[in-house]
Amino acid sequence: HSTPVITVDGPGGSGKGTLSGMLAARLGWHLLDSGALYRLLAFAAQKRGTDLADELALVQLAANLDVQFIADAEGGEQRIMLEGDDVSRSIRTETVGAGASRVAALPAVRQALLARQQAFREAPGLVADGRDMGTVVFPDAQLKIFLTASPEIRAERRYRQLLEKGETASLAGLLDEINARDERDMNRSVAPLRPAEDAVLIDSSHMSIENVLETVQAEARKRN
Ligand code: C5P
Repeated sequence: HSTPVITVDGPGGSGKGTLSGMLAARLGWHLLDSGALYRLLAFAAQKRGTDLADELALVQLAANLDVQFIADAEGGEQRIMLEGDDVSRSIRTETVGAGASRVAALPAVRQALLARQQAFREAPGLVADGRDMGTVVFPDAQLKIFLTASPEIRAERRYRQLLEKGETASLAGLLDEINARDERDMNRSVAPLRPAEDAVLIDSSHMSIENVLETVQAEARKRN
C-alpha cells in the first residue's frame, strides 16, 4: 500500500486524540478516530436497547452503522454524525466510553469494524488514532507512535476537561474508571492495548502537546 499512515496508539487521556488531530491538520492528511467508531457502536446499541454482550446483534449493528465524520478545515475537532444526528458530544460521556470498552472486547465486533477502518487510508495520507492501529489495523504503517501518561496525570487532564465544560466530577472516581478501563483494554484476548514492536514510545506526562507534536514530526522526517 503506497498511501502513508502514521499510527498513534495509547490509553485514553494520553493526549493521542489531540495529537492526532493536530498532526493530521498540519500534514493535510485524513484522520481516523477509531475509538469514536467503538463509541458510536456502544451509543447506538444503548439507544436501541441492544445488550452489550450480544455479539451477533452488535456485529449486525456495526455492519449497518450509518456514520459520517466531518473534518474541521481549521484542524479543530471533527463532527461525528450518526444517522444524520450530530452525536459528537453525546459519545464522549463516561457511560459510552465504558460501553465502548465492553463492545471492543468482542472479537467479531473488532473484525466487523476492520475494513471500515482500513478504508480511511486515502491519499495523501492518514493519521490513525486508537489502541491497535499499529499492531492490527495498519501493521505496515511508516511511523508508529505509542503515547502514554501516568494514570494520575490522565485522570487530572480528564478532570480539568470536565470542569471546563461546566460538568462536575470526582478526581478519585475518574482515576478508578481509568484504571478499570486500562485493565480491560490491556488484558483482553483480542487486540490488547500494547505498543507495536517497532513503535516509538513517548511518555507525555510532563510534556506539552507542542513538545509531543515536535517529537513526532521529527520522527516522521527521519522516515522520509
Ligand atoms: O479512545 P477512546 O476512549 O475513544 O476509545 C473508547 C474505547 O474503545 C477504548 O476504551 C477501547 O476499549 C476501545 N478502542 C479499541 N480499539 C481502538 C480504539 C478504541 O478497542 N482502536
